[in-house]
Amino acid sequence: MLTIRYSPLTVRVLGEQPLLQVAGLSKTYSAGDHSYVALDGIDIAISKGELFCLLGPSGCGKSTLLNILAGFEPPSSGSVTSNGIGVTGAGRDRVMFFQDAGAALFPWLNVEENVRFGLRVRKVPRQERDFIIDKYLRMVGLDHHRDKFPSQLSGGMRQRLQIARALAVEPEILLMDEPFGALDALTRRNMHSVLLAIWQRTGKTVVFVTHDITEAILLADRIGVMSAGPRASITKVFEIDMRRPRDLTDPKVAQLFRDIEALLAPEIARPQELDKMTVED
Ligand code: ADP
Repeated sequence: MLTIRYSPLTVRVLGEQPLLQVAGLSKTYSAGDHSYVALDGIDIAISKGELFCLLGPSGCGKSTLLNILAGFEPPSSGSVTSNGIGVTGAGRDRVMFFQDAGAALFPWLNVEENVRFGLRVRKVPRQERDFIIDKYLRMVGLDHHRDKFPSQLSGGMRQRLQIARALAVEPEILLMDEPFGALDALTRRNMHSVLLAIWQRTGKTVVFVTHDITEAILLADRIGVMSAGPRASITKVFEIDMRRPRDLTDPKVAQLFRDIEALLAPEIARPQELDKMTVED
């Protein structure tokens, strides 16, 4: 059986078989006599073409989980499969996308060369490289900036270059760790539109980590809400069956925000003194 969802730009067909599956996953960090159980009992099944947001308080284990999905670190127990194959390390099917584009991009290479680099490493035939570079630089609107170096780009342009570079190697899955967290509010909103347009056009599967409820609601097909650690898990999954672009003043969106906020509020530690204070204080 297939689920068919309509969006303003495309019809998306999501298969029943999950592309990315996490089962009974836990992660314990140990140092000397001390150990810390960061994640416990994580189960997720993400469909091909889905935009899944992992939302949770700071320090709950979102990056840890994303790093495990990327194959950068192993789980302590449980399993991760991509296309039915166990994830035991980094793979060509997955690309990680970081908040700090400066650290991810090569500062000594210009825009075009940054994209070209990954294609050379993956031994993409020379005659195909120019076509792929053109396609993705055009898609992110950087085709007129190909001679610039990362230091000559704005924060949003650097993130667009990171997207072009990630897409050029044609992964199935984009793993994005608070990618727009360091951008100003307007640029961030623009990047949401860029990401949604590219996602709709390419049909990639995206796992997007954020601690921002609004960002998750604007983007996601589903939001997995995580509890605070230790032993963080996904406490609830919200399915958002609403057309994009989503309107934050829509009462349904506002209600969803309140529902998620109510779930997260107890997870966010507040200094007790703050609760005793009044506005006059
Ligand atoms: P988030 O991304 O939600 O902010 P993290 O995944 O970065 O959270 O961290 C989750 C928890 O695991 C935190 O308490 C953090 O201190 C701990 N942690 C993360 N990486 C390590 C590590 N390499 N060694 C020990 N503890 C770690």
